[in-house]
Order: sequence, then C-alpha cells, then structure tokens
Amino acid sequence: MLSVKIENILSKLGINPKNESVCTGKQWLTALGSETISIISPVDGKKIADVTLASTTEYEKVIQQSQLAFDNWKKVPAPKRGEVVRQIGNKLRENKEELGALVSYEMGKSLEEGLGEVQEMIDICDFACGLSRQLYGLTIASERKEHIMMEQWHPLGAVGIITAFNFPVAVWAWNAMIAAVCGDVCIWKPSEKTPLSAIAVQNIIRPVLINSNIPEGVFNIILGDFRIGEKMAKDTRIQLISATGSTKMGKRVSQLVASRLGKSILELGGNNALIITDDADLKNALKAAVFGSVGTAGQRCTSIRRLIIQNTIYDKFIAQLVKIYKQLNIGNPLNKQNHIGPLIDKIAVSNYQNAINEAENQGAKILYGNKVLKGKGYESGCYVLPTLIEAQNHLKIVQEETFAPITYIMKYNTLKEAIAMQNDVKQGLSSAIFTNNLKEAQYFLSHSGSDCGIANVNIGTSGAEIGGAFGGEKETGGGRESGSDSWKAYMRRQTNTVNYGNDIPLAQGIKFEI
Ligand code: NAD
Repeated sequence: MLSVKIENILSKLGINPKNESVCTGKQWLTALGSETISIISPVDGKKIADVTLASTTEYEKVIQQSQLAFDNWKKVPAPKRGEVVRQIGNKLRENKEELGALVSYEMGKSLEEGLGEVQEMIDICDFACGLSRQLYGLTIASERKEHIMMEQWHPLGAVGIITAFNFPVAVWAWNAMIAAVCGDVCIWKPSEKTPLSAIAVQNIIRPVLINSNIPEGVFNIILGDFRIGEKMAKDTRIQLISATGSTKMGKRVSQLVASRLGKSILELGGNNALIITDDADLKNALKAAVFGSVGTAGQRCTSIRRLIIQNTIYDKFIAQLVKIYKQLNIGNPLNKQNHIGPLIDKIAVSNYQNAINEAENQGAKILYGNKVLKGKGYESGCYVLPTLIEAQNHLKIVQEETFAPITYIMKYNTLKEAIAMQNDVKQGLSSAIFTNNLKEAQYFLSHSGSDCGIANVNIGTSGAEIGGAFGGEKETGGGRESGSDSWKAYMRRQTNTVNYGNDIPLAQGIKFEI
C-alpha cells in the first residue's frame, strides 16, 4: 500500500489545475477559460481536483510561443538538446515514486504499472539522449561525374501530441523526448480523463527548462478535450500531429490533418490475439495469457482480446485459465496484493456490460466473469470481474475493441487456420504465439504469418520495450513511435546533390547544349 497520502503527492508535485490550463514550458499562464471538469479517481470515487480547460486565447498564446521557440531551438546543436533530455530523465528518476502513484490513483492501473510507466519515460530519455548524437543521414553514389549526393535530416517544426488516458504520461515521453532531440517543439494535449498526471510531469521538468535556459515554448501543454485536439489537427502551424487513442478519433484526426497536407503519426486501437499451440510451454503461456488479458484491467492498446488455442489442448488450457481467474485479487491498485484495479470510469463499465450482453446475443458463451463488483472497496463503481467468453472470430462484437478485461476464446486445428483467424480483424497492433516448435514460430513471423506491427514469440502481446518501433497496421493507424528509426517521422528529409566538377552534366544522360 502507498505510504504517502495522495494530498501530499499532489502538493509535492505542485498540482493547481483550477488556475493553470496551459504552460509554455517554464511558465503556467493564468487560466482564462470558464469551463471546468472534475477529475474523479476510479480507485475510490473521490474527487481529486477540478481542472479548467484552456480557452482559445490561451491556445493562441501557446502556438505563437512555440513558433518563436522553434526558431531558436532548431539552432541548438542536437547533442546539447540531448543533454536537456538527459536532465529531464534525471528529474523523472527523482520523482518516480510520486508520479507513479499519481498515475495509479488517477488512471487506476496498479502501482507497479504506474511506476513502470515512469520507468518507460526514463528509458526513452536515455534512448533519446544517445540518439541526439546519431541522427545519421546517408551519402549516395551519384550517376554524374564529380557529384556527390547525400541525405540530411532537419528539424520539422511543431509536433502536436494528443494522448489517451491509459498511458497518461509515457506516450508523451515517447514522442516529446524524440521530437526534442530532433529540434522540434512540442504541444501536448493530454487526455481530459487524466490531466493531473500531465500537470505533474510539466512541473517535474520545469526546473530543468528554467536552469538550462532553453527557449520558452519548447515543451508546451494545453489542457482540453477533443475540441482542442481538433483545433490542433486543423492548425497549419503544427507540422506533425501524433495522436494516440481510439480508431474513431484517429479517423477524424487523420482527415483533418490530411486536408491541410500535414503529417500524422496515428497510434490507434488494437484487437490483439495470442495463439497457443500444443507445442507450447503451457505454464508460461498461461501466465502470459492472464497478464495480457487482465493487466491494466484490459485497458492497454496491446491487451489480449482473443485467445486462439489448438483444439488438442483447448479443454485443459481453459480449465486452468478459469481456475487462475477465480484466484485473482481485484481491488485498490495501490495495494500490491491486488492484481486488477478499476476501469477508468462508469462509461467504461457500461461498455463492458454492453459488450458481454452483445456477445451473448450473438451466440457466444460466457465461461467466467460478467459482474460489476459492489460493496466495501468497490465504492467507485468501476471494478469488474475479468471475463472469459467462448466465441467465434467472425462475431461482430469480437471484431471490435472493447477497452475492458474481456477475452474471447476460440479453437483452431491447423496453424494456418489460427493465423488466418488472427489476421481476420480490422486492427493490426500486436500479436503473439506460444510454441517451442521453431518452424511454427518462424512461420508466424514470416510474410505469411501475423499482419500486425508487433509479433512476438513465447511472450504476450503487451509490455513492449522502448528500443523497438511501436505501432500497428490497418485500422491501428500505421504510425511508429519510440525506438528504432521512428525518429525519422519527427524530422524533414532533404536530399542534396553537390557538383564539385567543372562541367554541369544532367542526370539520365540528357543533353542540353546552349
Ligand atoms: P480517445 O480516442 O477517446 O481519446 C484519446 C485522445 O484523443 C484524448 O486526448 C482525446 O481528447 C482526443 N480526441 C478524442 N476525439 C478527438 C478528435 N475528434 N479530435 C482530436 N482529438 C480527439 O481514446 P481513450 O479512450 O483515451 O484511449 C483508449 C484508446 O486508445 C483505445 O482504443 C486504445 O487502443 C487506444 N490506444 C492506442 C495506443 C497505441 O499506441 N496504438 C496506445 C494507447 C491507447
């Protein structure tokens, strides 16, 4: 259990959301907006704070400040920008416990996962700092005599970062730390469901921004709902919109950004499957199946939504799974004894109930779960039993992402059949197989295997490391963030050709004599 009181954490992190709705890095501006929202913790149903949403006037101030900042920030050498990011990582290290606890209390994920989310921010700071000395371009052999071609990467401009409630702080860091070393300025619109964790991050990094004397307007934050998000998507002063959230949101944002020919990175919903073959280590497969399905109460974009199990082990596996589900502790996520915390709010609880009813109406069979918990410790009304449903892949409800701990279970005969089933959904984020058979594993990873952005062997679908490029295909949006060469999306590529000879030959051998 958390030893410090949440009031002390709020005070230590300087949370004062009634008076502050936008920050241009070092300074919070006085809130001018008249709309407020109350932030209620799904953990105990208590109000944590009221937040004032930013007005149009404040939005303008932030955007203008970011434009001024970009002119200076892009001129700072990349390794020096990396040094600022390194210091941000250190500040996060110093405040890891408080921030992790606030994330857990505001969003409802377990304290372990809240701390893990902050660790992910620290990791990406380290990664981005190293990257600041590795923003490599290419040299290219020219077909023309005494010419050289090369590729350079320049800062892009302003990056709008729209984030979802389920990773209230890490997704900002994935984007902002990379964007910052690339020489961009960032405008963050956190989820209106979890703004306090975002305010805390801004306060944690402010001393670094003040002491390192970087221009005001490099790391901006605007508190608002979808209306601010749409404003950003339409704003031609924001070169790149990186939006994380539902596919519905992504479709709207991508249209708005495309209509002005802006750039976007879209990280949207998933419908992730785990295939379990009869060659699998079943003990590990069970662990992965349970954590992937119920971790973060099923509110990860990479949560397991579908278990596709070989018919020869199906009955045995399901029996063991149900047995483990019955032993899971559900309750306050700040208590380490509990495996599962609450859903984010009562709307999410209704979505859970509706999905289960739909599944039954469509002919699926509930194996376990289907209950909203009541009584002591469950006063917020956001705690539910994780649910296992035997279903067929083509059912309409199985084809959708329900952001709750509901797992659909289905049987397969051949691996080809399992992979076809796995790929037969609109989303394409994460996927995994459990098998000790090398041929099966390799087939799953081949061009005829998983069609997802993430494909794992002998681990679950969730819990990605920051070193790899993160994102998915199809209706998941096609974006990539975080590691590998994802940084390229935050820069503009320039191809240069330099002639150091005495003639001026044309490419393709074209002659033009004058
Ligand atoms: P959401 O789509 O409701 O909201 C996400 C963010 O988008 C919020 O900041 C919201 O204010 C903003 N937004 C909503 N409508 C908008 C619009 N029309 N224009 C601009 N901005 C708008 O999602 P959520 O409920 O916060 O998060 C859950 C969803 O996010 C799930 O679908 C989950 O799979 C997805 N998700 C995806 C990833 C990924 O990396 N692929 C990561 C986390 C969450």
